Amino acid sequence: MNPFVLVQPRSHAQAAKVMAAGGSYRLPVLKAGGIDVLDHLKEGLLSPDAVVNVRRLGAEGPAVTRLADGSIRIEAGATLAQLASDPILLADATVVAQSAGSAATPAIRNIASAAGNLLQRPRCWYYRHAQFECLKKGGSMCFAVDGENAHHAIFGPGPCHIVHPSNLAPALMVLDGQVHLTGSKRDRIAAADLFHMPDKGILSEHNLEQGEVITHLTLRPRPTSGFHAVKAKQSFDWPSALACVSLRVEEGVIREASVCAGAVAPVPWMLPRVGAALKGAKATDDAAIAAAAELAAEGAKPMRDNGYKVALLVASVRRATLRALGRETPSFREIRP
Ligand SMILES: Cc1cc2nc3c(=O)[nH]c(=O)nc-3n(C[C@H](O)[C@H](O)[C@H](O)COP(=O)(O)OP(=O)(O)OC[C@H]3O[C@@H](n4cnc5c(N)ncnc54)[C@H](O)[C@@H]3O)c2cc1C
Repeated sequence: MNPFVLVQPRSHAQAAKVMAAGGSYRLPVLKAGGIDVLDHLKEGLLSPDAVVNVRRLGAEGPAVTRLADGSIRIEAGATLAQLASDPILLADATVVAQSAGSAATPAIRNIASAAGNLLQRPRCWYYRHAQFECLKKGGSMCFAVDGENAHHAIFGPGPCHIVHPSNLAPALMVLDGQVHLTGSKRDRIAAADLFHMPDKGILSEHNLEQGEVITHLTLRPRPTSGFHAVKAKQSFDWPSALACVSLRVEEGVIREASVCAGAVAPVPWMLPRVGAALKGAKATDDAAIAAAAELAAEGAKPMRDNGYKVALLVASVRRATLRALGRETPSFREIRP
């Protein structure tokens, strides 16, 4: 690991100044909890000359607040553990609390931040291995195409086949999340515009510019919302597939539905056809919910070893919908003798 300067800014705006292009450092790297940044340093994937530590910024105030216009504000540095147990989120943005509570391990959730979770880099083992010069590192090929692709994307044309690793990002998508920024002319970007597909820029996954720092997130409340993930190791793994669902239900009928998948495409993958099919269904109509969930598979183009993800996605969408409706079915673990 190369030596670097540790910068301790007093505000996000100060951090943004240090991070800005043409500043005092050649390659400054922003660090919140550091779970992903330290992995990169240790693997030799990043060699910064300055690490700008924003972990403690905003920690003195509440992690989550309700705003006057009814929306909900989450601080950039709020930990996943705080989100998972926050009473405002548990009551009015259940999908966020559930997605945060399902990520990683208790120890990691105590450190990992909301902003860092959104911007963590992909887990593709070729990207993560310093010896594979893949497309994401300026190389000329995606090794997953003819290689080990059990955990890669089932949607999207490539040329890079990563899956988006964040639990929180799809939850933000179904609640019309906004990502608030400092360090540039714009003060926010919609969660829906935060990420891009590989063909729009292969070296990064998001649309933030150098020097833009996330200060907080806002989202609209939706009590009827739910999350479900299927993992190889339920205790700590990244999901093989996950789904986030937000519903507006009136008199027992689903009037609005927004559905987003994670871990199946290079970006959080909206499923508008599923949302449209759920609209008008009775909240107790299991057949209609199951039929809508089947539409999640439309357009999937699995690679050699990841066809299993299609069924996991359909099941995740169905279960997330039932969870949003307060009609959770027992998990595999619960029904085992
Ligand atoms: C064993 C294990 C299992 C895991 N399982 C899951 C899982 O199931 N689901 C899941 O979602 N994640 C999972 N993770 C990933 C983990 O949740 C993320 O690495 C963590 O949330 C990153 O947060 P952080 O605060 O540590 O970010 P950091 O590592 O500090 O930063 C990550 C990225 O975000 C950028 N960043 C951080 N804060 C800001 C800001 N304010 N503005 C702009 N950029 C910023 C950094 O520059 C960096 O690029 C797992 C990790 C491990 C080790």
